[in-house]
Amino acid sequence: ATPTAVMVATGVGASQGVLIKGAEALETAHKVNCIVFDKTGTLTIGKPVVVNTKLLQSMAVRDFYDLVAAAEVNSEHPIAKAIVEYAKKIRVEEEKRVWWPEAHDFVSITGHGVKAKIQNKEVIIGNRSIMLDHKIQVPANVEDLLLEAEARVETGILVSICGQVVGVISISDPIKPGARNVISILKSMNIRSIMVTGDNWGTANSIAMQVGIETVVAEAKPDQKVGKLKELQANGSIVAMVGDGINDSPALAAADIGMAIGAGTDIAIEAADIVLMKSNLEDVVIAIDLSRKTFTRIC
Ligand code: ADP
Ligand code: MG
Repeated sequence: ATPTAVMVATGVGASQGVLIKGAEALETAHKVNCIVFDKTGTLTIGKPVVVNTKLLQSMAVRDFYDLVAAAEVNSEHPIAKAIVEYAKKIRVEEEKRVWWPEAHDFVSITGHGVKAKIQNKEVIIGNRSIMLDHKIQVPANVEDLLLEAEARVETGILVSICGQVVGVISISDPIKPGARNVISILKSMNIRSIMVTGDNWGTANSIAMQVGIETVVAEAKPDQKVGKLKELQANGSIVAMVGDGINDSPALAAADIGMAIGAGTDIAIEAADIVLMKSNLEDVVIAIDLSRKTFTRIC
């Protein structure tokens, strides 16, 4: 391709909110034969909401959410934001005010959850692993609640107080309406799609099935996301990674092409080769198509 063709393609991309950082990124994109998608905020809308609360002990929902919000208000995670939003709604409806008890010794455990001491009680919130790591038993009836949530494509968040699981909060983060179509278009372009996520296997598999992705890596830490990319590259794939979160920047940097989607974090935008300014998954196709048109000779 001539420098002019590259400039034209870059300009066409920019006019559609597809920012291609340089000629090399534009060139590499046409060789991509495998795309790794992050789940949250990439395949899903990324604005989770609380849809269900199951309490396992006689306890007022309001008191339960006071403790949960007191801990989660210290976390930046989208799940934490959803929980605090919901807790606020309950408080405002009941008392027209919002405040939480004081939290001490707050700790955030990446990819697992949070813990804090509130009113002298140890409160731990998160997935199965955070409970296991703190030697907190997840009884069979709680495990059933988690599996039910996962089958509904929701994420079940466990809440323990003083070493006992007392509640399960179900969080829903709907799939983007166009996701299934994009995966199927990519398939027709001979590009294989894979999903990686820190979320649990049950929810991950349900979402993958709904969008038509066959290969899933769940419960993955940031370095395991990078490990999966390296494995694919070692097997000869030219890999693009699409993601939005802080967790994803190492993977964006490790991919042959990193694509930051939407109003992603600054750090993700920094690490990316291509930035999809709108949150449209369709723009993944547009970016690759532009590159193919520029670098594939017709005759
Ligand atoms: P993703 O790759 O989907 O962005 P993360 O790695 O950020 O997921 O988180 C993985 C899992 O850890 C979440 O699905 C949730 O179960 C748990 N988790 C993480 N942070 C929190 C939090 N602040 N509160 C409750 N659970 C959390
Ligand atoms: Mg994420």
